[in-house]
Amino acid sequence: MVPSLDEKLELIYQEVLHRNPGEAEFHQAVREVLETLGPVLGKYPEFADRKIIQRICEPERQIIFRVPWQDDKGEVHINRAFRVEFNSALGPYKGGMRFHPSVYLGIIKFLGFEQIFKNALTGMPIGGGKGGSDFDPKGKSSDEIMRFCQSLMTELYRHLGEYTDVPAGDIGVGQREIGYMFGQYKRITNKYESGVLTGKGLAWGGSRARTEATGYGTVYFAQEMLKTRGESLDGKTCVVSGSGNVAIYAIEKIMQLGGKVIACSDSNGVILDEEGLDLELVKRIKEVDRRRISTYAQSRKHAVYRDGGNIWAIPCQVALPCATQNELNGKDARNLVKQGCIAVSEGANMPTTPEGIRIFLDAGIAYGPGKAANAAGVATSALEMQQNASRDSWTFQYTEHRLHQIMVDIHKTCHETAEEFGAPGNYVIGANIAGFLKVARAMVAMGLI
Ligand code: GLU
Repeated sequence: MVPSLDEKLELIYQEVLHRNPGEAEFHQAVREVLETLGPVLGKYPEFADRKIIQRICEPERQIIFRVPWQDDKGEVHINRAFRVEFNSALGPYKGGMRFHPSVYLGIIKFLGFEQIFKNALTGMPIGGGKGGSDFDPKGKSSDEIMRFCQSLMTELYRHLGEYTDVPAGDIGVGQREIGYMFGQYKRITNKYESGVLTGKGLAWGGSRARTEATGYGTVYFAQEMLKTRGESLDGKTCVVSGSGNVAIYAIEKIMQLGGKVIACSDSNGVILDEEGLDLELVKRIKEVDRRRISTYAQSRKHAVYRDGGNIWAIPCQVALPCATQNELNGKDARNLVKQGCIAVSEGANMPTTPEGIRIFLDAGIAYGPGKAANAAGVATSALEMQQNASRDSWTFQYTEHRLHQIMVDIHKTCHETAEEFGAPGNYVIGANIAGFLKVARAMVAMGLI
């Protein structure tokens, strides 16, 4: 059953539906937050009086633009790109760019909305924003990717700045794309403004541990949740969906902490390797060769590839959804709980459907929602901005130590906030309320913004 909202929040939700028709993912992300804010309005009526929630649900600025580009044969293509500058109460808009054919305004708005709370939880001075395009990088040559990135930045540059809006990567956008975008920004503005983009290469202003950050952080969050239950990752059987940047470094950290990862996936299918995944092979396939994960089974004879398979049918003790939104539904959640899963930590954004979340919470397993569990990526982006501002470059060890500490702190904040609001162990309530309070207080302090 879908939980009902109290009257005030229901009205706010209806207004969001009415003002943003057809944006299902945005509605879902808003509803999930509203479902947890009832007790906050009871405790702090000034937030209702100042219409803070209504303001947070309306982006400060939304930019939609055409990106024309030519493929290697000279054929012209037109894509649509977005940058949603959601909230700048805590700092410049901050959040990644996603290149994927499924991108439309509703996806960027759900991501931007979640980013506000996630960024607040990191304790770093960053507001929330997100962008992307319906451009499909699959099968494109590096030259085509470059021409697309240059064309996109030729419009986007005017909206960016290290104190204004700082994009980074997300699905389909890694160091290569950030490089092409940074190059074009630098060329147009005639400024070496390192802090305008994060996720840069090490030789040109990037931060050590940024590549690893999201995956590592998701595992650190799982580790902290397990600790509160007297458990650890040591010896645990784990399943990590996806095989992109987040999944790869989640697998790496689980292995370092003594866990065994037996499965990963891509949008075509699932690899099951009962002996434990060969991470170097996964890295070579995905990071170097840029190929499908099915090729893994050609090199490891005992591994099984299931075309179109469902990774959540595989029994495990710890599950890390690191692929994409709504990849884990109610049926999958029931399956995982039934087969002995004790912890779920989300490396992707909103990977579990509302029904799936309810099943995890009702079963009392440790469930870390993405906006808390995957915050190390953006937190390390903020550390990259800090290094750029001071023209400094930190060691891997120091940067990883900082991001680890940030994740320990986020976990503690969520845990304590959930207890304070009468829901011990409920990280959804903890993350939403703690993130909201920080943004809401700043907005009240700044007057009617
Ligand atoms: N796309 C990542 C996220 O979902 C990282 C954003 C960033 O580093 O700005 O948080």
